[in-house]
Amino acid sequence: MSKFFSAKYAALTPYVPGEQPKDAQYIKLNTNESPFAPPASVVAAAKQEAGKLHLYSDPESALLTKKAAEVWGVKDTQILMTNGSDEALNFAFMAFCDQTHPIVFPDITYGFYPVFAELNGIPYEKIPLKEDFSVDYHDYVGISKNIVIANPNAPTGLALPLWQIEEIVKSNPDNVVIIDEAYVDFGGESCVPLIEKYDNLLITQTFSKSRSLAGARLGLAIGNETLIADLNTVKYSTNPYNVNRMTAAAGYAALCEAQWFESNCAAIQENRAYTAAALKKMGFTVLDSKTNFLFAKSDKIGGRALYEKLKAKGVLVRQFNAPRIADFVRITIGTKEQMDALIERTAEVLEEEK
Ligand code: PMP
Repeated sequence: MSKFFSAKYAALTPYVPGEQPKDAQYIKLNTNESPFAPPASVVAAAKQEAGKLHLYSDPESALLTKKAAEVWGVKDTQILMTNGSDEALNFAFMAFCDQTHPIVFPDITYGFYPVFAELNGIPYEKIPLKEDFSVDYHDYVGISKNIVIANPNAPTGLALPLWQIEEIVKSNPDNVVIIDEAYVDFGGESCVPLIEKYDNLLITQTFSKSRSLAGARLGLAIGNETLIADLNTVKYSTNPYNVNRMTAAAGYAALCEAQWFESNCAAIQENRAYTAAALKKMGFTVLDSKTNFLFAKSDKIGGRALYEKLKAKGVLVRQFNAPRIADFVRITIGTKEQMDALIERTAEVLEEEK
């Protein structure tokens, strides 16, 4: 730390992204990216915009926003396009939380929430998941605090039904409830239809997973237009050109590929079921994932050891050294071939453990 670093950040522990190793070619199942490249039309759209990189992007991302409004069935004033959904989440923490408006989230969830809170000087409280790693929605009913819940949750992959989300939103009318739907397209129930009914509901989604655009950095926030206007105030005070030209064009093209999107999500769900069945056969406990990853625990080897042994065999998964989940590994769903490699190498590791 330099002597110039602001005291307000001195205690900040930054978010740690999953490894992006440069030392070897891994079967990379550790950062929940899509294994499938985006369709050719999306790549072509980005390439075409590359010729205009001397010009700023449209700060309103108007074309993209209009198209997104059509796809999500809302008004364009109810949407803000962002640089990944991480940016939408950070804007929401900045806009709606402060010393007197703390935020609450599960103890096991997306690791960026406490970082956004600490970055912005926001007090936060973690509510333990149930024994079975699900969110107990009763814990959030009528608590009169801002809330963020990933639904489906990460890294567990478990989802709450829509009616439980509605109970949470309805019972906290004077607070903002943020529902992070980064993984919703793989089997969760989206709460976007509730935004007309509740002015305190903000939803974030991403193009990083189900639309295969993690490298483009594109996300969005959906909610009542007054919430979106507040997010815009923060955006125009932070980074007006937050979505670059190539990404906006790629995002627009991606939204025109409805059929590709459906089959992309279906392929991931099929590979997920296939992998879950194989892992269970090997004695793993596998949580009921509604996402593009599995959270699984072996009865024969600890999480850290399994992570390390798989890495030595060229397969990268993610393991969290945190209470209650240290024996789990999080496995991103890849292609069928990648899943076969994971299953094979896992079987070898278990054999070597005997
Ligand atoms: N929410 C959750 C639960 C996530 O796992 C991620 C991906 N790391 C994000 C949000 C952010 O994704 P992105 O910024 O790529 O949209």
